[in-house]
Amino acid sequence: MKNANIPRKELVADRQTLMRTFIRPENIAASTTLVKYMEQILFGLHDFLNTHVGITEEVSLKELSERYKDTIICENPEKKLADVITDLVEEIAPHAVNVASPYFIGHMTSAIPFFMVHLKTIVAALNQNVVKLETSKVLSVIEKQVLAKIHRIIYKQNEDFYIEHVQNTHTSLGCFTENGTLANLTALWVARNSTLGPKEGFEGIDKEGIYAAYKAYGIERSVILVSELGHFSLKKAGGVLGIGNRNIISIGLDRACRIDIKSLKEKIDEIQKSPTRTKIIAIVGIAGTTETGTVDPLRQIGEICAENGIHFHVDAAWGGPVLLSEKYKRLLAGIELADSVTIDGHKQFYMPMSSGMVYFKDPCRMDAIIYHANYVNRLGSVDLGIKSLSGSREANSLILYSALKIMGSRGYALLIEHGIETAKSFAEEINNRSGFELVTPPELNILTYRICPAEIKRELSTSPDAQRKILNERLNEINITVQRLQREAGKSFVSRTTLKTYKGRCESIVVLRCVIMNPLTDINILRDILDEQEELYRQNF
Ligand SMILES: *Cc1c(COP(=O)(O)O)cnc(C)c1O
Repeated sequence: MKNANIPRKELVADRQTLMRTFIRPENIAASTTLVKYMEQILFGLHDFLNTHVGITEEVSLKELSERYKDTIICENPEKKLADVITDLVEEIAPHAVNVASPYFIGHMTSAIPFFMVHLKTIVAALNQNVVKLETSKVLSVIEKQVLAKIHRIIYKQNEDFYIEHVQNTHTSLGCFTENGTLANLTALWVARNSTLGPKEGFEGIDKEGIYAAYKAYGIERSVILVSELGHFSLKKAGGVLGIGNRNIISIGLDRACRIDIKSLKEKIDEIQKSPTRTKIIAIVGIAGTTETGTVDPLRQIGEICAENGIHFHVDAAWGGPVLLSEKYKRLLAGIELADSVTIDGHKQFYMPMSSGMVYFKDPCRMDAIIYHANYVNRLGSVDLGIKSLSGSREANSLILYSALKIMGSRGYALLIEHGIETAKSFAEEINNRSGFELVTPPELNILTYRICPAEIKRELSTSPDAQRKILNERLNEINITVQRLQREAGKSFVSRTTLKTYKGRCESIVVLRCVIMNPLTDINILRDILDEQEELYRQNF
């Protein structure tokens, strides 16, 4: 609240002020000013990040929404940049969520290496648009190179393959997208268009629409199969692609929370024999489910898809970067059988929001979604917009291009290994405490558990189903309350979710979910978090 009572000269929007907002660091004075703003931002936010952890309830969401109700745009400028930055740092940032805190272990959004902020600045300053070559030039070339690098760790094709395709303007190894949702949608769009593609007397589903496609193929329905733990972006894709989201069919889990292969085979069999003639557009394997971090048996699903001629998509939005770890990449064995793979950049590549990617084994596969507009894209050019769901988009590949140089695959491997190994120690700690129950042990770096007092645990193990249901409801209530109280206290944050299957039984149980990706999160911090939960339980139940 500096100078609150000194009346300020009123700001006006005129040409002269306007032109000042377009200054560049063209001389010492301009550079000094611009650097000053950058410092104000970086140091200001740093202070915020050091003093705030988790989501506090100091100011409630309701109160906050009261502050932001004015819907009129002022005609003249209200504030100068320096004052706006001060407001953002002092009034907005403290009510954002400090996802960088090592005590914030509830979600897939976490601390990022600070160089990412620098790299993001370069992307913003260059402001390239990779929809076409004419607004991006070398950035389109770099995107192709980065895509080839990641394609190589997934599919391990030989050197000749990459020499042929890395800069080939007629083929695509994949595409950057804004997030995993759009990557999954792109993959399933390609799968749909290939499965119901052009043939004699039919120009393909993308051109003629779903009704004509079903008529041409003599079917009444098309479906996509995925385990119960499929991400909800797949349902959205079902809606957008016109196949209907109830046709994203859930397959049950085995005891380890992976897709149950026997049920999958039975479902395929049932569909093939069904009187409602149905086409399977894709089967999705998950490499790191959002809720439990478990990895489906990719090799087995891949073999089933190959036998039946079905598109195999792997949703590795979370787990993809595990491929960089020599120690743990075996956990994703079979991913190379996938026709398409989703990987998020803003998850375990530790990139800033928003960055996803989709990869295709066959470099011609994306031909199924070619679109071009004469004014922007020319066929056979490097215009990346020809085969991309998005139109304009930023040159995010530059961030991954640089991050891979700064980190090396070993640097990323260390992050991944820290997460997996810390999650293992955390699981042991949970097992050693009588008041907790580990629900899904970590395969990668995600685990779920619940508060489960020893006496209830004993009862659960001997009770018939009806009694178990009552006990689980009681536990659900306890876990919901403790999770909320811990979040409101503002020191730490774990998330919660409800699992529908537990140890092969259909039981709806509320679990606390932890995602260990911040390299500063160690076992001592995790013990603190458990201690706090024990204390909250004692005080409230
Ligand atoms: C996060 C996630 C997605 C969706 O990604 P967004 O980037 O949030 O759109 C899809 N699938 C899985 C398995 C995920 O973990």
